[in-house]
Amino acid sequence: MIVLKFGGTSVGSLERVREAAAIAATQPAPRAVVVSAASGVTNLLLEAGRQAASGDRSGMAATIAAIVEKHQSVLAGLPEGPDKVETANRISDLHTALELTLADVAVAGDLSAKHSDRIVATGEKVMSLLMAATLRSNGHLAEAVFADRVIATDGRYGSARPDRDRTREQADAVVRPLLDEAKTVVMTGFIGCAPDGTTTTLGRGGSDYSATLLGAALQADEVQIWTDVPGVLSADPRLVPDAREVPHLGFEEAQELAHFGAKVLHPRTIRPAVALDIPVRILSTFAPHEPGTLVTRESASDHLKAVTAMKNLILLTVDVPELEDLSGAASAVFGALYEDRTEVVLAAQASSRRRMTYLIEAGTYGGCGRVCARLNDVLSDYEVEIGCTEDVAILAAVGQGAADQTRALSRMLAVLQREGVPVLASNQQVSNVAMVAAVPQRFADRGLLAIHDEFVSSRPSGAKLRRQRRSRLLAEPVQVG
Ligand code: ADP
Ligand code: ASP
Ligand code: MG
Repeated sequence: MIVLKFGGTSVGSLERVREAAAIAATQPAPRAVVVSAASGVTNLLLEAGRQAASGDRSGMAATIAAIVEKHQSVLAGLPEGPDKVETANRISDLHTALELTLADVAVAGDLSAKHSDRIVATGEKVMSLLMAATLRSNGHLAEAVFADRVIATDGRYGSARPDRDRTREQADAVVRPLLDEAKTVVMTGFIGCAPDGTTTTLGRGGSDYSATLLGAALQADEVQIWTDVPGVLSADPRLVPDAREVPHLGFEEAQELAHFGAKVLHPRTIRPAVALDIPVRILSTFAPHEPGTLVTRESASDHLKAVTAMKNLILLTVDVPELEDLSGAASAVFGALYEDRTEVVLAAQASSRRRMTYLIEAGTYGGCGRVCARLNDVLSDYEVEIGCTEDVAILAAVGQGAADQTRALSRMLAVLQREGVPVLASNQQVSNVAMVAAVPQRFADRGLLAIHDEFVSSRPSGAKLRRQRRSRLLAEPVQVG
């Protein structure tokens, strides 16, 4: 069986939902579809939650109206009849439940992560109803399933961790019987259920992860991620216009790209596929006949395939002069970061200098003031020196085999130096598939272009573009570090 996941832009309008439904219908049954909310809806739902918490009633009403309007525009395209009435009623119930939750938030004057997850789940739930109804209107048996009955998670609202065994049991109980009746199951992406039955989410962009979690639970033959780009590209096309398609990636390569910020895949997407060796394909709903990118266990060749930048990071250094303090201090730092639910993007330790280096997502703390206060607190028993730099980005170049050649790293560092991009930290042996450099965020785009030029671009048509871009960038002030 095949799991197909459609992202926000792929279900962003009546026309896109119809196109996605048509694509799903071309796949052999049994098949399961996973849908995101229509593009923009998750942001609007979060906005409504914030407005409710701050008592901005009129702003909230306008935001709800925009959400309802977006959903109505797809609903309006369904053919008249009892199925449309039933779908409209169920969507209206979801909108009413949303307003009730927002009223609770307004009373509390605070948007808790638990309320937030219940609120944002509305976008995926409505879309699953709309997509299932669209499939039925085309003559296919289809049924919407809300993933807060299927994807079992812990209770970390906002970035819940799945429980694979319970998910398998629930998928067997809820999804498999529908597939056995030859129905196309349309499951909500992004959401799951905590042990107490309340709705959780897997983190922004988490519908990709839902697709592989469902694929693993059902032992799917393939998971297809349908999006707005023709596969994984050699860089984010919004930053590198001459980025090219990457036909094949190994699991590890795809994992590293996603981990270091390539938004095309949620960072945890690949993991569930690895254990069961399930191929993952990334395809475009705008160019459905393009081959896309196939991700499998094997990596096709040993050259660098793609580069990525991850922004909004904090670079932390903790110097521990007494060797015997090192492990205790490291465990205190990791303990605090774990408790604060802070993603550690990279950690390194040079024991000779007793220096521990961490790159963490800035989200939790916002800036160095708060992170240093927190670390000073947990490290109060140790004699340490804490260093902190805000507005840091990581540049990563990914390719099995190529990344573990020392020459490749020195080439990357040389390119950055030539372009005037200061390197704050670098690490080749993060894995044998990625080499990374931390740079000040304002240099990230320049560095990314330069690394892409050096390692990936060779199309003659790209040369002119690249030269123009470089001269424009070099006109800006350059700081050499
Ligand atoms: P969806 O809504 O389908 O989940 P996303 O917006 O989450 O889509 O992810 C697709 C986007 O990821 C693309 O439009 C592109 O801008 C961005 N992206 C970042 N890095 C890459 C990459 N290496 N290859 C392809 N797309 C990338
Ligand atoms: N709709 C959710 C988001 O915007 C999940 C997803 O798109 O994958 O984050
Ligand atoms: Mg996405």
